[in-house]
Amino acid sequence: MNQWKGKPYHSLDYELRKQFGQKIYKLSLDGGMTCPNRDGAIGRRGCIFCSEGGSGDFAVPASAGASVFSRIEEAKLQVQKKAPSAGGLRYIAYFQSYTNTYGPLEYLEALFTEALSHPDIAAVSIATRPDCLDGQVVNLLARLNRIKPVWVELGLQTIHEETAAFIRRGYPLPVFEKALDRLNAGGLTAVVHVILGLPGETPSMMYSTVRYLAHKNIQGLKLQLLHVLKGTDLAALYESSPFPVFTMEEYIDTVIRCVELLPPEVVIHRLTGDGPKSLLLAPAWSGSKRLVLNALHKRFRESGSWQGKEYTDT
Ligand code: SF4
Repeated sequence: MNQWKGKPYHSLDYELRKQFGQKIYKLSLDGGMTCPNRDGAIGRRGCIFCSEGGSGDFAVPASAGASVFSRIEEAKLQVQKKAPSAGGLRYIAYFQSYTNTYGPLEYLEALFTEALSHPDIAAVSIATRPDCLDGQVVNLLARLNRIKPVWVELGLQTIHEETAAFIRRGYPLPVFEKALDRLNAGGLTAVVHVILGLPGETPSMMYSTVRYLAHKNIQGLKLQLLHVLKGTDLAALYESSPFPVFTMEEYIDTVIRCVELLPPEVVIHRLTGDGPKSLLLAPAWSGSKRLVLNALHKRFRESGSWQGKEYTDT
């Protein structure tokens, strides 16, 4: 466990300090694209949990005419207000909102090249859908990855097709597998998002998703508590026929089990949720991320648990 500076899991902060020799901050940016699950190409209502901001409610918007450089500068100011020192900071340009490879190739090339060329940007992270990663896009990203690290974040959420249909994810599991193969072949860093607590899923279904990913060539995982956000179809469902949501204790037990199932080399990018408090409908306890993380770390210590404890490579 000491391999992660005393933490019971391979945290993103640990990995970034190892790779870049300092703390790295994320700048949440809007790449100015939409999503095929919202514009009608696949669907019009989006994933059932997706808020108006397209899962990027904190992102600096791609306001008309603003260059990527100026958006980066604007986002840097927000971080510097909270960061202990205003000088010498480095950042990840995180294209978070909607589907950030859903645009013409030339547009993507110009956008990401400009972000990478900013001297304070250490890496670029691109959130997208596996069905928006054809060979040409992956070739472009692989080329850019030779300039500075490029990470690709895929919203899988679950491996179970019945849940995927319920949440209107809009693609079957083989599409994810094909995209991951392409990313692996291109030498790109793949980070996968999983939601814990989707309606109808038992803990054993969530563990199957994590166990499946533990045996794939992924470099990072985001475990996200299901947030019911105001204004979403999930919120309408919750209000008309409430479904059970995790208590904090149940969530902590589930997360710890998931972490135990992962191999030590997979970087854990997130263990809770990061939704906007103003939109949070349920679970109410999840509004305080610090409280949840403290309780989680305490339970890790008490239970003597660590990442990989229950991982087997077969
Ligand atoms: S793929 Fe992402 S942006 Fe598109 S609807 Fe689903 S959560 Fe929202």
